[in-house]
Amino acid sequence: MADEKLPTRAEDFSEWYNQLVLRAQLADYAPVRGCMIVRPYGWALWENIQGALDRRFKATGHQNVAFPLLIPKSFIEKEKHHVEGFSPELAVVTIGGGEELAEPLVLRPTSETIIGHMWSKWIQSYRDLPVLMNQWNSVIRWELRTKLFLRTLEFYWQEGHTAHATHEEAVAETRQMLDVYTDFAVNEAAIPVIPGVKSDAEKFAGADTTYAIEAMMGDGKALQAGTSHYLGQNFAQAFEVKYLDQNGTLQHCWTTSWGLSTRFIGAIIMVHGDDQGLVLPPRLAPIEAVIVPIYKNDDEKASVMKAAKELKVQLVKADLRVHLDEREGFSPGWKFNDWEMRGVPVRVELGPKDVARHAAMLARRDRPGKEGKVSASLADLPATVTKLLAEIQQALHDKALAFRRANTQEASTYNDLKKAVEGGFAFSPWCDSGECEAKIKEETRATMRCIPLDRAAVLGKEVASGGACVYCGKPATNWAIFGRAY
Ligand SMILES: [Zn+2]
Repeated sequence: MADEKLPTRAEDFSEWYNQLVLRAQLADYAPVRGCMIVRPYGWALWENIQGALDRRFKATGHQNVAFPLLIPKSFIEKEKHHVEGFSPELAVVTIGGGEELAEPLVLRPTSETIIGHMWSKWIQSYRDLPVLMNQWNSVIRWELRTKLFLRTLEFYWQEGHTAHATHEEAVAETRQMLDVYTDFAVNEAAIPVIPGVKSDAEKFAGADTTYAIEAMMGDGKALQAGTSHYLGQNFAQAFEVKYLDQNGTLQHCWTTSWGLSTRFIGAIIMVHGDDQGLVLPPRLAPIEAVIVPIYKNDDEKASVMKAAKELKVQLVKADLRVHLDEREGFSPGWKFNDWEMRGVPVRVELGPKDVARHAAMLARRDRPGKEGKVSASLADLPATVTKLLAEIQQALHDKALAFRRANTQEASTYNDLKKAVEGGFAFSPWCDSGECEAKIKEETRATMRCIPLDRAAVLGKEVASGGACVYCGKPATNWAIFGRAY
């Protein structure tokens, strides 16, 4: 695994990513084209992502539910934009138990339709609202060009679905969940995302407004890392989701949906990873610290392993996720490389000399080489490692933010935009016209990523408002982020 070097990110970013996913044992290719097998290490990372999000969903009043994988095909056809958006990607079941089905079923690409159908039965009065639900599941979208974690036929995610009595409440919910995603990305994954509004061309099929968190990857490209949709009354009308208000008048509900998927693992890889492999943010890392024992003979082994096992107990007591690498037949150097590939934030090196002086050497994954090494006493190690993990978490965030800002250009002219999207984002005045957006996409391969909600946060300084559209020169209504995207 650790014997061969990865291609460097500068040489071939795409191949660096593909090989890293396999060698860090996050995921593998499935026998069916475009499907992904998430391996234990990758799934442990996803479980930590799930935990961090699920806590936040429950703290904001949401309950988890489970809806079926199979949805009557007619449901998808009830909302005009939804069917247009999803038809090309649908997997349809026409035979069950050896018999042709009376009505074809689709494998869910998302669950607005079946949930709307059930809400029409469950929601009667304003007293039944709001309904705040979430489900953890997988969905199927028949993608043609696939890449592990970033785009696969089946992927894992959560989909939140809520119904409200008023437009204002539904909009507030949409924004609240965008804030939840932003907080998660920044504080758990150390990814400085840009929360903003999508254009009509880029929004969810069936939404009135789509909000998203956008992140810059290590090659300067954009990745949409989570979305929150204000659905207005589109699905409530298609599925007759109605309630009696306090005046006894029958009203349609206002609904939202929001999702974050295993795609986010791709973002973690591409934001923090380096030429040695994966670099995981401590708060989400399956293993926060790995202990690598170093010895040359049986005497040394006995004393080192005894100290290593005691140390592991102490670190576990301090609530740290720790692994002791007891593998035989691999040199310490080989193990160092292996754990570097797998992105473990802190490596604890323990040899006979360290044991003799009741100390260990700590190596930071985010600062390879001597610079990231410190010696620490064994007695203080739990506290030292805990502090170090917090420092690494912050350092990863700050480095990613500095990188994003360094590669985002305020671009008022079309030439500046073209240059900026070669290796990063353009932040440009835009007239809100879909035609300008389509032309920019056609000519530069850059899409409108979002209109940032906090303009000053993009570059860490106030930017000019107004101006002329970067494409057509007409008065700009907004400043938008343009970039090439995954
Ligand atoms: Zn324009």
